[in-house]
Amino acid sequence: MTPTLTPALLRAALAAAERGWPVFSLRPGDKRPAGHPERNCPATGRCADGHRTPEQRATLDADSISVCWQAAPYNVGIATGPANLVVVDLDIPKDDTDTAPPEWAGMADGLDVFAALCERAGERPPTETYTVRTRRGGQHLYFTVPEGKTLRSTGSSLGWKVDTRAWGGYVVAAGSIVGGAPYEIIHDAPPALLPAWLGDLLTPQPAPAPTPLAELSARMRNATSYSTAALRRELEKVLSARQGGRNRAVYFAAYALARMIRNGDPTEAAVTGELMSAGQSIGLPAGECRTAIRSGLVRGGALEASAA
Ligand SMILES: [Zn+2]
Repeated sequence: MTPTLTPALLRAALAAAERGWPVFSLRPGDKRPAGHPERNCPATGRCADGHRTPEQRATLDADSISVCWQAAPYNVGIATGPANLVVVDLDIPKDDTDTAPPEWAGMADGLDVFAALCERAGERPPTETYTVRTRRGGQHLYFTVPEGKTLRSTGSSLGWKVDTRAWGGYVVAAGSIVGGAPYEIIHDAPPALLPAWLGDLLTPQPAPAPTPLAELSARMRNATSYSTAALRRELEKVLSARQGGRNRAVYFAAYALARMIRNGDPTEAAVTGELMSAGQSIGLPAGECRTAIRSGLVRGGALEASAA
């Protein structure tokens, strides 16, 4: 066939596969995978030996791709995990009510937050890489994953409107059209190697050994001052928080203690240190813990929202 007769979406699928990124079909005009979800699996055809997820059926095979995309104008999904990619998904707010939480006050969108993350890390924004503009004006920055590293997709763990797509996720490829709007390549460079600092932020930290409540209590047993008693009370609330309420418990403890920090006792460093230990001892990941503390302190007036 001549290139001009090749449907645009077939070209998009082949182009992604030629870069070594396995593709699968998304519903025409949509970003959801084509085909049946696992709960409706007929256990026939490609699923005869068990349901195959989009990640499992994604392919680099040009013949299979041609057959599939000549059948219907499917959008193109890239299975980021098998493609050895991590794609940083910088989103923009859905509407006027979708505003940044206190931690990211003043930020307009995921692009702002990502720039701030780079600044905090003391690194230049890694923009010299394959980049796609999403249909709503966000950006997908593509990176290759260093050898030996396996990353899962994340949702907002880096920051507001900053998701990542890796194993367990996928991205809508350039050339796809969702709701009438295209995904377009805006920087056609080879994908860069994921910067080490970003890889570190995306690598799950091993859970710290739980600190028994008795030990923390012992450390504060001789508390006499009003501020230490308040700190101890808040720590005990955090330590008794149940799964699902842990993040909130740390946030409210920071919020409650912010007023005392403003009066100079205890110090912000002491509160942050104790709440980090308490939060992590109940299984809250360090990043989430830090975010919750910071948000609570900002909301309570102990920190400037703009401070890095
Ligand atoms: Zn199935």
